[in-house]
Amino acid sequence: MSATAATQAVPTAPQYPPRITAEHVQRLLARISAGLSDPGAAKSVTTYAPFTGAPIAAVPQSTPQDVAAAFALARVAQRNWATRPLSDRARIFLRFHDLLLKRQDEVLDLIQWETGKARKHAFAEVLDPPLVARYYARRAYGFLATRRATPSLPGISQSVEVRQPKGVVGLISPWNYPLVLGVEDAIPALIAGNAVVSKPDTQTPLTLLWAHELAEEAGLPRQLWQIVVGDGPVVGTAVVEHADFVGFTGSTRTGREIARRAGARLIPASLELGGKNPLIVCADAPIDRAIRGALDACFASTGQLCVSAERMFVHADSYHRFVPRFVEAVSAMRLGAGYDYDADLGSLISQAQLEKVRAHVADATARGASVLTGGRPRPELGPYFFTPTVLTGVTEEMAVCTEETFGPVVSIYRYSDDDDAVARANASPYGLNASIWTRSTRRGRRLAVRLKAGTVNINDGYSAGYGTIDAPMGGMKDSGVGRRHGRDGILKYTEPQTIATQRFVVGVEPLFGMRFGRWAGLLTRALRLLKWIGLR
Ligand code: NAD
Repeated sequence: MSATAATQAVPTAPQYPPRITAEHVQRLLARISAGLSDPGAAKSVTTYAPFTGAPIAAVPQSTPQDVAAAFALARVAQRNWATRPLSDRARIFLRFHDLLLKRQDEVLDLIQWETGKARKHAFAEVLDPPLVARYYARRAYGFLATRRATPSLPGISQSVEVRQPKGVVGLISPWNYPLVLGVEDAIPALIAGNAVVSKPDTQTPLTLLWAHELAEEAGLPRQLWQIVVGDGPVVGTAVVEHADFVGFTGSTRTGREIARRAGARLIPASLELGGKNPLIVCADAPIDRAIRGALDACFASTGQLCVSAERMFVHADSYHRFVPRFVEAVSAMRLGAGYDYDADLGSLISQAQLEKVRAHVADATARGASVLTGGRPRPELGPYFFTPTVLTGVTEEMAVCTEETFGPVVSIYRYSDDDDAVARANASPYGLNASIWTRSTRRGRRLAVRLKAGTVNINDGYSAGYGTIDAPMGGMKDSGVGRRHGRDGILKYTEPQTIATQRFVVGVEPLFGMRFGRWAGLLTRALRLLKWIGLR
């Protein structure tokens, strides 16, 4: 079927997924309208389902004035929220955890409807927020607890470090993982006592609005978490202008712009940005497992995953065993647009993504790269389907070699030894995630510490690292600043405050009427003694 024929078949009315009704969609959209100064006059943007090209909904757009109003309401709600015991705040997120698991099928439908990803990739997405909710609801006590600080001279003062919430946190998220990236930063920010104003991508607001509805059902005060929707440069900029802290997930280009604006306001920002992630297949790699792992690493969410592998380095000794079988496995992947678990791979999200993927493949082949499998759209399945693609013969002047494709395209390179693998894997401005396949954990760890990547997974593509909520997750180099998950993932939403009580002395004034010279000598000797006795 030609692309034109597929275009002619595009439905003009919404086609609702099995568990979503028109009424539910209107109820979710009303959450945006409630925050608009003039709902009747608000502009709306129609979103479209990637599976079919049919419309999803006309989504009302917030204005910068609506963003200002959302922050004002959130600020009032935050004052009360911060005084509530941590146990109260945490309990709400344990209930949120239960509701997420109970109502999973609804959000699976919404994620697929808005993003076009395969159901199994939507399922991987819905696993994450409950993990994050449980982790911070149970561990926040330790992270946020008041800490006694050791005084410089024993007994002279008593100091404690307390953690104050920042205030109102602005969170800006992209379309590729609308549930995970819309929710998992909000959870620790809220548990730490902040209010949140979230701006999802215009293409995927329903998923986050669904989570917002669920959080309210779990007991979260409605005004505490505000959702605004609209164009990034207008509504996103307004979020940065009002926030006390900005958490941004998206492209490196936008991340730089946000950092500039946050810098001008002297507010902190954490930036989770793009990647061009390497996957290394060592000579001793377990080939069958590496092939299965690489399929997931390269093609989860149709390659529209920040941590997915786009560069594969295969040792010369395993190249002939690995590559033909990997290509065969990729060719056998089933593409499909169903709300069931039958497809291995879904659609790209939009025409823009399809054009970008197509352009990278066309540029590579025009400059001499070979397509081992894939390389073409599948309009008979849906408007933005693209076959999973494996390239070889990719060289530095090709866009696909250095730029993030964010699609189902991987380039394979042969390497000779560990030094070669490390040098080539690190030859990228990005440093988000890496994957190493080897039978030797020791060898894997030795290689891992030489890689400039925020997460390195041994015998896994990305889920071991991303799924370890207790460990920090984020990028080096152009892949970001700051981390989510673990201790860092909640402490960044707090201001450390030191409260020091002086006990005997006043500043550095002498005690017991001593002359200052004598007192200075005594203090100096005391410092020497403290080092000598091994005090830290
Ligand atoms: P994007 O930067 O275009 O948009 C992301 C969000 O920022 C959207 O909500 C958008 O409306 C908003 N935005 C755009 N311009 C803005 C501006 N000037 N000021 C404020 N907000 C603005 O990114 P995208 O193309 O939607 O997302 C894909 C990118 O996100 C890829 O590069 C991917 O690697 C990256 N990503 C990173 C992570 C991570 O955790 N490191 C996770 C997912 C996606």
